[in-house]
Amino acid sequence: MTGTDADVVVVGLGAWGAAALWQLARRGVRAAGVEQYGLAHDLGSSYGESRMFRTACLEHPGLVPLARRSRELWRQLETETGTHLLDPTGAMLIGPRDGRIVGGALRAAREHGLEVRVLDRDALHRRAPAHAGLADGHVAVVEPEGGLTLPERTIEAAVGAARAAGAVVLTGTRVTAVERTGGGVAVHTAEAGVLRAGQAVVTAGPWLADLVPDLPLEVVRMPVTWFTPTAHDERFGLGRLPVFMRELDGGDVIWGHGALPGRTDVKLGLEDGGRGHFATVDPATMDRSVAPADWAVLAEHLARAVPGLGEAPSRATASPYARTPDGQFLIGRPRRDPAVLIAGACGSHGFKHSLGIGEVLADLVQGKEPAMPLDFTDPDRF
Ligand SMILES: Cc1cc2nc3c(=O)[nH]c(=O)nc-3n(C[C@H](O)[C@H](O)[C@H](O)COP(=O)(O)OP(=O)(O)OC[C@H]3O[C@@H](n4cnc5c(N)ncnc54)[C@H](O)[C@@H]3O)c2cc1C
Repeated sequence: MTGTDADVVVVGLGAWGAAALWQLARRGVRAAGVEQYGLAHDLGSSYGESRMFRTACLEHPGLVPLARRSRELWRQLETETGTHLLDPTGAMLIGPRDGRIVGGALRAAREHGLEVRVLDRDALHRRAPAHAGLADGHVAVVEPEGGLTLPERTIEAAVGAARAAGAVVLTGTRVTAVERTGGGVAVHTAEAGVLRAGQAVVTAGPWLADLVPDLPLEVVRMPVTWFTPTAHDERFGLGRLPVFMRELDGGDVIWGHGALPGRTDVKLGLEDGGRGHFATVDPATMDRSVAPADWAVLAEHLARAVPGLGEAPSRATASPYARTPDGQFLIGRPRRDPAVLIAGACGSHGFKHSLGIGEVLADLVQGKEPAMPLDFTDPDRF
């Protein structure tokens, strides 16, 4: 592609960029998406087979409408592409009633009238018996609207739907700079020359700071591990062990879900939660290998909290994600730039919002007010 034949160039086709491209294309906007690697690759924030979906957004109650809208759009994308992308197997947020996880989920549910149930320790154990060592007074918020999403498939589906609606997609094409010009932007690429457009939407995930200066971002490396039960045990299937976050005494949070259909291993990890578990990295040079030090704290917790699994992971990987000092996303126009929009700093909870964020970005491109207020994600708030 050469010349000035796009209204909008979307830079980076991870979960957020793919969603933006889909929304722009289905509105008839002439959109091009540029991705440095192949689609649904393993080097960014959207890799790893599954993502937890929940609408009780403990990170900020203002995210609840975004998650709910995303859920609707997931259904729409499934219908449009004939692909299964979201398993509504429920989600559990476990911990002390007034702790960060349960307290935050209940606050979000209350503010937005979400349908949730609270299970006491015994009821929780009956529903998900793999959870052991539950402390006195720990409860579970069960969210029937929650479940599990499939990141790689969702990206492929969104980009496929965008293509079908007329979007141009360039993979294996690295953007080296987004330059402001009189009429809009010149998107410089290493492989396809310069793409000229009215606006750029930069959704470059952990690489966002390479293209847009002066953003308060840091990138961390998050290990992800799968453990195989020591013996066949139905407690470890997805139906009995739905996606969960569990705050332990002491404040560490483990998360995960039971084995997907056709698999035997259980995906489990440790949340950073500002506790310094994860190293700050450069995504270009980040160590992608996973060593025992990466799962030592988790394995110690699992021996008590989810016993019956092998001591070492049967599979492991590590992915980068970007975050801001206040833990909220960056969505909008930095310095009110009329030609450049960004969406990034997804943290470890941004996947469930992908499709809603795509819609918000398309609204902003078209000069429309998004349906939900997202002031707390303003890139200029710092
Ligand atoms: C291990 C892990 C577990 C997580 N678990 C959950 C969860 O359970 N639930 C949840 O809701 N969220 C979760 N998240 C967060 C979620 O996955 C992300 O919010 C989501 O995937 C958004 O990704 P993104 O599109 O912003 O970034 P990415 O997927 O990294 O996409 C950015 C894209 O931009 C491309 N790019 C970058 N620079 C350039 C350039 N110069 N030129 C061209 N292309 C470029 C990259 O190659 C990449 O494809 C998790 C994140 C991680 C890392």
